[in-house]
Order: sequence, then C-alpha cells, then structure tokens
Amino acid sequence: MDCLFCAIVKGDIPSGKVYEDESCYAFLDIAPQAPVHCLVVPKVHIASADAINSENAHIIGAIFTAIPKIAASLGLANGYRIITNIGEDGAQSVKHLHFHILGGKKLPENIV
Ligand code: AMP
Repeated sequence: MDCLFCAIVKGDIPSGKVYEDESCYAFLDIAPQAPVHCLVVPKVHIASADAINSENAHIIGAIFTAIPKIAASLGLANGYRIITNIGEDGAQSVKHLHFHILGGKKLPENIV
C-alpha cells in the first residue's frame, strides 16, 4: 500500500519525530498552521476516524493516552486543539488517520 504516513512511521520518509510508543508515532507537520502543529498517527494503517471499530478502538485509546504527554513535551500547558479531518468533505488529504495537535497561541474561535 502506498501510504505517506505508513512510510513516515517506518522511517522510509524523514520526519520531525516528537514521540513514539508501540501504538503511535507523532511528528511535526510539514506546513504548520499554528506555532505548534504536530500530527499523531497510529502505527497500523487506519484510513480515518470513520474506520474506527471494536477491533482497533484500543489504539485510539492509546493515542489519547499519549496526547497529554506529547502536548506537555511541546510546551502546551495553556491548552491546545485536536482535529481530525475525515473524507472529502472533511478535507482529509492523507488517508491515514491522524490527529492534528495545534497550539502555542490563542486559536480562533470559529471552526469549533
Ligand atoms: P489532512 O489535511 O487533515 O489530511 O492533514 C494532512 C497533514 O499532513 C497536513 O497538515 C500536511 O501539512 C501534513 N503533511 C503532509 N506531508 C507531510 C510530511 N511529509 N511530513 C509532515 N507532515 C506532512
């Protein structure tokens, strides 16, 4: 399967690694939309949040357990936003589930 984020997880494509454990890999977004913009992805390929099911839900739990540690390591003590885009209408450009962690400034109040 030709998947950019699978290649990043494998180390075949370089990334600005922030965190890694047995379930997930976090790295800096290549085109940051906030002073801090990091992506957290499952190591296994899951197409999007729409593909979460009873078989893989434990991985999502592991990711959300890691996120506070990742946010702390990025200095986001004042808060942050987590976004995941899904499908065409959600403007998902990479078809491997990823959670954007955005912060480092007061974020706009529109778009949730
Ligand atoms: P989305 O539009 O939600 O699918 O988000 C995909 C994100 O991946 C965008 O914010 C891109 O800037 C980011 N991105 C694409 N290629 C890379 C890469 N090679 N390394 C880091 N981030 C990337």
